[in-house]
Amino acid sequence: MTMISVEQALEKILGYVDVLEGEENPVLDCLGQVLAEDIYSSIDVPPLDNSAMDGYAVQSGDTRGAGRESPRFLRVVETVPAGSIGKCEVEPGTAVRIMTGAPVPKGADSVVQFENTDETSRTGDSGEIGILKEAESGLNIRCAGEDIARGSLVLAKGTVIRPAEVGVLASLGRSVVRVIRRPVIAVLATGEELVEIGKPLPVGKIYNSNSYGLAASVRRCGGIPRILGIARDNEDSMVAGIRQGLDADMLITSGGVSMGDYDMVKDVLAKQGEVAFWTVRMKPGKPIAFGTIRGLDREGVTKHVPHLGLPGNPVSSMVTFELFVRPAILKMMGKKKLAKPTVKAILEDPVVNTDGRRIFARAVVKESNGQYFARLTGLQGSGILTSMSLANGLVIVPEDEARVEKGDVVQVIMLDWSEE
Ligand code: AMP
Ligand code: MG
Repeated sequence: MTMISVEQALEKILGYVDVLEGEENPVLDCLGQVLAEDIYSSIDVPPLDNSAMDGYAVQSGDTRGAGRESPRFLRVVETVPAGSIGKCEVEPGTAVRIMTGAPVPKGADSVVQFENTDETSRTGDSGEIGILKEAESGLNIRCAGEDIARGSLVLAKGTVIRPAEVGVLASLGRSVVRVIRRPVIAVLATGEELVEIGKPLPVGKIYNSNSYGLAASVRRCGGIPRILGIARDNEDSMVAGIRQGLDADMLITSGGVSMGDYDMVKDVLAKQGEVAFWTVRMKPGKPIAFGTIRGLDREGVTKHVPHLGLPGNPVSSMVTFELFVRPAILKMMGKKKLAKPTVKAILEDPVVNTDGRRIFARAVVKESNGQYFARLTGLQGSGILTSMSLANGLVIVPEDEARVEKGDVVQVIMLDWSEE
């Protein structure tokens, strides 16, 4: 069996998945999805010239020479709150009291904020206001269309929707937009020893943690997880489990892909579709099965569902998810950037590489004085899932390095930033 590199494995996997089709989605649900349409604006934002301050709309010419010691007094003709259109024009010698966001009345070319008037020292309605500072034409006026001009391209197809884009879409009045749909990822656990969470644990059994760690990982990168439960280590049970995953966009299984007596995922897969079984030159996570499963879609047309058989050890399943499944999900969602960010960090513990594989060691990365430091999270066995929960990064030890020392600079894949 050939041993392939992480890059070769990823390339093969990505070769099996394509960008999915679009769907219409309420804007808030689009968070993290990719726009499948160009968004043009049918309105100006803001729609009208409006005030950036609570104050007085005036003609700037009337404020010439105004100062704390030399107020210019203007007759106040009305008050305009946000959301209303005033009735009066501002003529020489007059002002309109105006609130932030209210449309600027005709005739006015600037707004003097309350702080630069004698507003607070007045009691009752005197019908006039003292301007205490000169105003330039255009002061405190937000122009119609200054954010978004009617007819302009606001967000291009391919844009990833973040909270700011949700806000921009809402500012155009859009309640629904077309985005690339989220892939449905079926998650199947395998193993005679597994017990579903929430049930008592008989002697000799363990809880099925992989399905939950993997489903959470799917959700975090934007996919829709569908947990299929546990398949037992016999062909019938596995076939039944796999069949349930046929209407998903991808099936991931955990366990049953190594060399043990009951590791039959690859044999079952070979019968149900095409399978490529590799060992990948990495640690954790050496054995991985990949292929497609043949099935029928809802219309009865033959389809091939990509399948990734991840290793059973909990850490291995999560690390291989990050390296192979996450990029596949992001590609299906139409994203261009598929890799997690990496940083260079100074290693605080040595790591020994015994068999020429690329090691992904679980580490805590901290920043100090503009420099990153990476400390391992204790025991690194592939069954020690807490090593993953303590970590925010994966230290990469290249396959051709037998040892990295304390003080060496290493590349670290950032799973999370510690401040999150
Ligand atoms: P396998 O590759 O099936 O031999 O599994 C390797 C190791 O991972 C064994 O110790 C299994 O008990 C464990 N394992 C497999 N599947 C799961 C799971 N869903 N949750 C937790 N541990 C698992
Ligand atoms: Mg097993």
